[in-house]
Amino acid sequence: MALPSKTYKKVYDCSRQDLVSTWTGEELLNGKPERSFTVIMRTRGCSWSLKSGCTMCGYHAASNPSIRSEALKLQLEEALSGYDGEAVVKIYTSGSFLDEGEVPGDVAISILEAFDAKRIIVESRPEYVNTGILESYADSAPQLEIAMGLESSNDFILEHCINKGFTVEDYRVARDIILANDCHLRTYLLLKPPFLTETEAMEDLASSITAVSHPQNTVSVNPLNVQKDTLVERLWYRREYRPPWIWSLFQAILSSEIRGPLVISRAGVGSKRGAQNCGSCHDVLLGNIDDFNLTGDTEILKRSFSVCDCTREWAAQKDISALLHYRGSHEILCDRYAGYM
Ligand code: SF4
Ligand SMILES: [Zn+2]
Repeated sequence: MALPSKTYKKVYDCSRQDLVSTWTGEELLNGKPERSFTVIMRTRGCSWSLKSGCTMCGYHAASNPSIRSEALKLQLEEALSGYDGEAVVKIYTSGSFLDEGEVPGDVAISILEAFDAKRIIVESRPEYVNTGILESYADSAPQLEIAMGLESSNDFILEHCINKGFTVEDYRVARDIILANDCHLRTYLLLKPPFLTETEAMEDLASSITAVSHPQNTVSVNPLNVQKDTLVERLWYRREYRPPWIWSLFQAILSSEIRGPLVISRAGVGSKRGAQNCGSCHDVLLGNIDDFNLTGDTEILKRSFSVCDCTREWAAQKDISALLHYRGSHEILCDRYAGYM
């Protein structure tokens, strides 16, 4: 399968007003693989990030608080120049597309009307989901899908590990509005927020999938990747955070009750800031993630466990981190205490 082709620009320049990036890929739509086109627009930024922000989110780096409608319209033109009729279009703003302070209503409608797609996916925090906005936007994009970053179905983890700024109940209210308005729903879940052991993180992901999985909800599992200028990056530099093992990702999914579509984000997987194993099995496992995303066949994840014997090291780390109430990794701990032995 072809890997997504990407056009990235330098994002760490808050004076920029242009598009962040676009890329093409493949996406399962109604059980069939379709070509997809992803657009990352630069906006004034996520309202929550401007006030406080989630512990793992570095999207503020791709925002510019001075961006207004004119710049967004120019970015739309730039995006359209690379659009080739892909059936699935994802328009991400590193914030909330439904927040009219971030994407004014008239601009949002022009964006939705500009793409001739079978499905348009946009992201939003739950507080911006309401019937009025969905009715007016759904006229411009009949197959509108709203994606919400719930991350975890555990309010304690949302508040203390992620600083999410909303509760599971807020998500449920927004979810019901989305479904009542015949829009599609996508829910992002996070594997391994900070301050959890590997086992706690796996249990949290498995119970979160079980809590939200539904035939009308596409669950997208995002193993944490360490983004710049975040609390997680600070912990990672201090060696107090290790990104999740890829084995944990697969095991948590296999331990959950899946009742609807589920995909795995490969962002950062296999890199030093993303979900990782020993290194030598990364290429095979990334291929397995791609195959899983296009088939939903969990046997692919089960068979993956025979690919590499670093499963033993993974198991050892899970055991020892639980006993020590330690949130880093056992390799780090061994390094740290080597000098005392
Ligand atoms: S994760 Fe989402 S809600 Fe949290 S700060 Fe980033 S863009 Fe905002
Ligand atoms: Zn391995």
